[in-house]
Amino acid sequence: MSSLLIRDAAILTLDRDDRFIERGDIEVVDGRIAAVHAATGPTRDGARVAGRVIDGRNLLAAPGLVNAHTHSPGALLAGTMDTESHPAFMWLNQADTSGRTPHEVYISAMLNAAQMLLAGVTTAIDHFPAQNFGPEDIAAATRAYEDSGMRMVLAVRIFDDTFGDIFPRDTKLPPDLERELARVAPLPPKPLAQTRELTEDAIARYHAPARRLSVFPAPTNPVRCTDALLEMSRDIAARFDVGIHTHLLESKVQTRLAQERHGCTMVQHLERLGMLSPKLSCAHTIWIDDPDIERLARHGVVVVHNPESNLKLGTGIAPIVRMVAAGVTVALGSDGNVTNDNQQLHEAMRLAACLGRVVEPDRRRWVTARQALAMATRGGAAAAQLDDIGRIEAGCRADLVLYDLSRPEWTPVNDPVRQMVFSETGASVHTVVVDGRIVVEAGRITAFDADAVIAEAKPMLAAIRERNRDLYAFARRMCDLFP
Ligand SMILES: [Zn+2]
Repeated sequence: MSSLLIRDAAILTLDRDDRFIERGDIEVVDGRIAAVHAATGPTRDGARVAGRVIDGRNLLAAPGLVNAHTHSPGALLAGTMDTESHPAFMWLNQADTSGRTPHEVYISAMLNAAQMLLAGVTTAIDHFPAQNFGPEDIAAATRAYEDSGMRMVLAVRIFDDTFGDIFPRDTKLPPDLERELARVAPLPPKPLAQTRELTEDAIARYHAPARRLSVFPAPTNPVRCTDALLEMSRDIAARFDVGIHTHLLESKVQTRLAQERHGCTMVQHLERLGMLSPKLSCAHTIWIDDPDIERLARHGVVVVHNPESNLKLGTGIAPIVRMVAAGVTVALGSDGNVTNDNQQLHEAMRLAACLGRVVEPDRRRWVTARQALAMATRGGAAAAQLDDIGRIEAGCRADLVLYDLSRPEWTPVNDPVRQMVFSETGASVHTVVVDGRIVVEAGRITAFDADAVIAEAKPMLAAIRERNRDLYAFARRMCDLFP
C-alpha cells in the first residue's frame, strides 16, 4: 500500500462545498485521496498514513489542471508560425507532423508532457497524432503517456474525406500543383474499415482509465468526415463506453461547408446523426449561433475553449459568455504548440475569464475567476469522461498540484481562486502528484529524465523537415494561395 501525507498546506478543494482550508492535511492511499481535513489542533488523526510526508507549510494544494485539447506532435513546433492564416497553418503543420518515426512520436509526446507537468497540468486529451499514422505510432504515444506519469486521453484522430476547408474555394489549383498534390498525397483518407480496425484495436488494447489512459475515437473535424465515419465513431463510443473528441466550427468556412453539404448547420447535422451527448467534446466551436448553443446545452455536449490558439490564428472569439449562460459545460485547452505556443493552462484560464468582457456589456454575465478555474478542472474532467478528478475530495484520484506561496505573485494571499487565475502563470508550481505519485518536485520533473528528452528533441525538427522536404515545399506553395 503506497501512501502520501501532505501536512499543514492551504487547500483549495473545489469540492462539492467549495471549501478553502487555510491549513490542513491531505491523506493519499493507493492513488486516491483518503481524507482531507483541517488541522484543528496539536493532535490529529492524520497518522493513519505511514508513507511519504510532505511539509505543506507555505504551499497551496489545488486540483491538477485538465488540458482538454492538445496535439502532442506540435511539441516540437513552438515558434514556427506567426501571422499565417488557418489554411496555411494547417498545411505547414501537416508537413511538420507527417512521416515521423515512432521514436519521434514518443519524444514529442514526452516533451509535451514535460511542458504540461511543469505548469500543473495532470490530465490531457491528446488529439493525436498527425494525419496519417499506424498502430506503431499509437503504441509509441501510449508508451510516452505511461512513462510521463500523466493521466491521458488518446483521442485517435481520424477522417475519411477531403480537407475542404483548407483548399481554395473559388479557384482551381494550378495544374502543376494539382500534379504535386497527387504525388505527395499529404492527406490520404484511409478506407473506413481500416480506420475502424485501428480505432477499435487502440481502445481494446490501451483503454484503461484506472491505469491513467483512456482512448476515444476522434474525428479530426466533421467537415472532413463522411457520415459513415461519424456514425462509426458514435457507435464505437457507445459500445466501448468512451468519449468522442473533435474539432468543431473553428473557421468560418467550416460553417459554409456544413450548409452546402447538409443544408443545415453542422450542430443540427450532428444532432440528426445522434452524435450530441455528454460523451462528445468539441474543441474551438467558435462559429455557432444561439439555437445551436442551446442544442449543445440540451444534449450535455462539452465545448473545449482554446482562447490562445483562436487569438493567434485570428479565427475568432468563441461565444463562451453565451455558452456559460446557456448552461453548456466548458473545458479549456491549450491546443498544440504550433498555435499557442505553450502548454500553459493558467493563461487559458485568464483569457477565458477576460476575453468575453470586451464583447459583453453586461458585467453580471462575465466569466468569473471561479468559473474559469472550474473550466480547467471540472469541465476538463467532463471532457475526459472522468468523474473522480478535478477536485480534492475523499474518494477522488490524487491528482493535485502544490503551489509555492512564498513567491511574490502569491504575496499576500488575498483570494486563492482569483490569484490562481489572474496572477499565477505556472511559475509557482512546486510539486505535482498524479495518481498519488510525485511526478514533479521542487519544480523538477521526477517521473522521467526530462533533460534526456530535451536533448533528443533538439535536432528532431530539422531531421523531419529534411525527410519531408517535398511535402514541405508543396505546403509552402499551398500557403501562397492563402496570402
Ligand atoms: Zn486542435
